[in-house]
Formats: sequence, C-alpha cells, structure tokens
Amino acid sequence: MHEWALADAVITTTLKVAENEGLKEISEIIVKIGELQTIDTEIFNFALKEVMQPQKKLLENAKIKIKSEKAILKCKVCKHEWLFKNAVKNLSEDETESLHFIPETAHVYLRCPKCNSPDFEIIQGRGIWIDSISGER
Ligand SMILES: [Zn+2]
Repeated sequence: MHEWALADAVITTTLKVAENEGLKEISEIIVKIGELQTIDTEIFNFALKEVMQPQKKLLENAKIKIKSEKAILKCKVCKHEWLFKNAVKNLSEDETESLHFIPETAHVYLRCPKCNSPDFEIIQGRGIWIDSISGER
C-alpha cells in the first residue's frame, strides 16, 4: 500500500507546483528513488496512472520518468565516502537483502573500507522525491 501513498504524494506535489507556477500542461515529471528505498516500481507505476486519472487535462501528456539514485555511505571517523553497491559486493544474498529492508543493519555487516570503523551514515540513497517537473504555461 506504501506505493499508493507515494504515488499520491507525487501527484499532489505535482498539482501544487503546477498551480504555483501557472502550468497548464505537465510534460515531464522526474521521480528519483533511492537505491535503499524498497518499492515495487510496477505497483508504483500502476498507482501513478490511477492517481493521475482525474487530472486528465493537466497530466494527459505527462511522462513520468523514474530514476534510481545511488546509495552513498560516509564514515563519521575519517570522512571517507563509498558506494553502497561496492560495499555489499562481498556479502551474501541474504545479507544484502536484509540491508535493503532495514538499512540500519548496515552497521552490523559493513565497515569503512579505509579505517574499518562501523561508525558511518547513509548520506544518499534513501527515500523518494521529485527531481523535476516541467510543463507549459
Ligand atoms: Zn573511515
């Protein structure tokens, strides 16, 4: 159900932006999804189409592009930044999966590749947001 709530939020935001900027027709909406955000894109796409239905005039020709944003980790000790994708290369499938579901468990499995500290944060790659909305006035 979480995909429906997200789709609803995307369209609600789009309508607000359209109103604020006086757009009569939306041509493109770019949505970014963090690598660590668990989302079923098939359901999400379907939900978007459904939610868009009542806004025919404004969204009839709107293309929605969904892009994935790479997850980046940053060590709090030595400030080193590294890609989540590279960090999980040596993990088992089960471990990688649990990281996707609960990114907080990253500290159990991962260490900073530079200084070996488990004290790092996820600085990018969580959540879902609208990257850009374009349209015609
Ligand atoms: Zn470090």
